[in-house]
Amino acid sequence: AERRFAGTPGDAAHHAQGALDVAKIRTRFPPEPNGYLHIGHAKSICLNFGLARDYGGVCHMRFDDTNPEKEDQEFVDSILDAVQWLGFGWEAHGVSHLYHASDYFGFMYRAAEYLIEAGHAYVDAQSAEEMRANRGTLTEPGKDSPWRNRPAAESLALFREMRDGKHADGSLILRAKIDMASPNINLRDPAIYRIRHAEHHRTGNTWSVYPMYTFAHPIEDALEQITHSICTLEFEDQRPFYDWLLERLAEGGLLAHPLPHQYEFSRLNLSYVITSKRKLAQLVNEGHVEGWDDPRMPTIVGLRRRGYTPAALQLFCERLGASKSDSWIDYSSLEIALRDDLDEKAARAMAVLDPLKLKLVNWGDVFGEATSEPCSAPVHPHHEEMGRRQFNLTPEIWIEREDFMAEPVKGYHRLAPPRVDASGAAVAGSLSRLKYGYVIRCAGFEQDESGQVSAVLAEIIPDTKSGTPGADSVKAKGVITWVSVSEGLQAEVRLYDRLFSEAQPDAGGRDFLQALNPASKKVITAHIEPGLAAAAAGTSFQFERHGYFVADRKDHSSAKPVFNRTTTLKDSWGK
Ligand code: ATP
Ligand code: MG
Ligand code: MG
Repeated sequence: AERRFAGTPGDAAHHAQGALDVAKIRTRFPPEPNGYLHIGHAKSICLNFGLARDYGGVCHMRFDDTNPEKEDQEFVDSILDAVQWLGFGWEAHGVSHLYHASDYFGFMYRAAEYLIEAGHAYVDAQSAEEMRANRGTLTEPGKDSPWRNRPAAESLALFREMRDGKHADGSLILRAKIDMASPNINLRDPAIYRIRHAEHHRTGNTWSVYPMYTFAHPIEDALEQITHSICTLEFEDQRPFYDWLLERLAEGGLLAHPLPHQYEFSRLNLSYVITSKRKLAQLVNEGHVEGWDDPRMPTIVGLRRRGYTPAALQLFCERLGASKSDSWIDYSSLEIALRDDLDEKAARAMAVLDPLKLKLVNWGDVFGEATSEPCSAPVHPHHEEMGRRQFNLTPEIWIEREDFMAEPVKGYHRLAPPRVDASGAAVAGSLSRLKYGYVIRCAGFEQDESGQVSAVLAEIIPDTKSGTPGADSVKAKGVITWVSVSEGLQAEVRLYDRLFSEAQPDAGGRDFLQALNPASKKVITAHIEPGLAAAAAGTSFQFERHGYFVADRKDHSSAKPVFNRTTTLKDSWGK
């Protein structure tokens, strides 16, 4: 491979350079390891890794670890885990493309010295406030620093002292020397190296100076021979500096053409969701949620625990595309992608979330001595190959409270007791089908002292079992899901709703904590099909009529089933 830069042998950059000459497209995903990844990062991951996959290229996994105080190995590990879980990897042709900005600190330092020597950078001694005041505005040009024209040798000596730890944080700063009157404020002598007496999670105490992100990033891209450096729109105004820096370093022989190019796309803004690592950290640290992986969090770990699948997130991101329009995406499009994935894959099961007991009063007449009657259902209605599930009908079952009305409203097709209507005529109890079981006729109900309905009474209509020739002999408009009282399982079910009750919780600098939805989590005890005892943690199901639920990754066991509601079904179930 041709020599593309003058790094010291042993630089990780050398490794990157030799690794892959066949790739046409080379992208990178460059998170800062200062938090957990969120749905916005998923967009960037799918875009960068997806482009590489689709065009036979490679996507580098790179940690932009230039901020030592905020970064941590915990975040590095969680980020790698999230990318892999989403279905992507950084290996190509047997080579691992995992990089760290900190691998290039040596090269970056030499690049900074080169800029000083060539008259393109100087050490400034203004305070942060002075620098801000002298930067100018969109309409006013900035003012030159009194240190702008100090001799290169002086700047170089100071910069070396900064490196050697001889100056306090913030006392000096290295700035590029470009143009204090540029209409682009990013070109008004941007800071490129600052003093930080901080321990870095990878380089320890080796460095007292750290590169600014805007200086580090183009260099990382160039050393890794990235072809498409894709970033969010707010970096559009940084592109001139990106190009300026790489051109200067190429002039100095530190980099070679072709140089990488920056391309921008719009950030993901999702309604009812916050995508700022800092604000998400606040939710965690102040206890508004139960951790980074709380199922209400828009983090990858949170979405995963909520029951989102890699395929659903990929589908969502593919549908978003890479436009430049800075619009808000409706949260429902995330749920639609999830349903589109799970509808075809998730096993079905019955669950009763708001239980009311139903007693089959003529059980003995129909089944004699038997205490249960076997029923079965397809695991998935369109995929016979997924097999069948078995469960028993028993003399007492749980039904949903809403499946019975003592005084039915017009058009109600589920269970209602025999009664006398307004004209004085006798009306028979109504018919409904127990799904995968028999047609039953409501025979009455029981009440507790407070008048609450405590049980529904019903008669089985013999020979109407689903799947038998007599199934259609009696027509019932209502279909009811149910779970056996004696054989069903109890489960803790966590019903999640949106974390914020406002569509743009942090718009206009508003205090997003004010917009927290107090009812975002509700825990109930549900009755579920007995076969779910075998459900592995992390498995998704469609609870018929109710939506998609996942066995909680952390808390679920067959001894104590715990399910999270991922999302409701699109269509409300027939009346
Ligand atoms: P945050 O503001 O949440 O800290 P960030 O942009 O600082 O996010 P990084 O770790 O620097 O986070 O991001 C890694 C990559 O993910 C960047 O290339 C960034 O452009 C992209 N990214 C971050 N947030 C979003 C978002 N909401 N939509 C699309 N891409 C995003
Ligand atoms: Mg960032
Ligand atoms: Mg940020």
